[in-house]
Amino acid sequence: MTNKLLGIFGGTFDPIHQGHLACARYVLTHCQLENIRLMPCHLPPHRATPGVSSAERAKMVELAIANEPQLQLESLELRRDAPSYTVDSLAALKQQDPSRTLAFIIGMDSLQYFKKWHQWQAILQLAHLIVCRRPGYSSEQGDAPALLKDYGGNLQQLKTRQSGVILLLDNPDFVQSATFVRQQLPLNPEIQAMLPPAVLQYIRQQRLYGC
Ligand code: ATP
Repeated sequence: MTNKLLGIFGGTFDPIHQGHLACARYVLTHCQLENIRLMPCHLPPHRATPGVSSAERAKMVELAIANEPQLQLESLELRRDAPSYTVDSLAALKQQDPSRTLAFIIGMDSLQYFKKWHQWQAILQLAHLIVCRRPGYSSEQGDAPALLKDYGGNLQQLKTRQSGVILLLDNPDFVQSATFVRQQLPLNPEIQAMLPPAVLQYIRQQRLYGC
């Protein structure tokens, strides 16, 4: 029997960019998921980018996915007024519908330090991990080799096991990064192409990131 798989894509999305969307679309197609929920994390006011609130990050996610019905906003972490651990969010989502198998989506940069995440083993008991390759981050560095050796698997295993499989995708390079967008957007017009048009428009209207 194959699982009912729900993708969860966590991140700061400060701001959401074309790289996030490209990852989500690639995962949808390659792993045949019905839906992916994009889950912006809570950021305490002192850690948030000055002038960009959690509500604005969530709004940009909404705008970016407005025409993509298979992508949805998951505002679980924003509804809590404190930082939440991924393990707690996945446990809450699992509790909502225990029949559903969760696949948490991350980039290779995140896999490289995944063993530093709070209760990372518990995350793998609750969910699978789907990992997108990312330019500049090799699967030979950090925690990635050991994790892939111990948990690495294929799509078939992802669909038949309940959790604990790490699937490394063979996606093309998506060069975009939020840090780069934040730093370069006010200076370099070419960076605008890294953003979904509705997000760029919102950033301009709200004068975010020094625009
Ligand atoms: P920042 O530069 O601020 O760290 P980011 O571009 O990595 O931001 P996040 O919101 O932190 O964006 O990313 C959420 C998740 O998406 C992370 O697991 C990250 O690895 C992954 N991700 C983001 N951009 C890419 C990309 N271009 N290719 C592959 N994975 C990506």
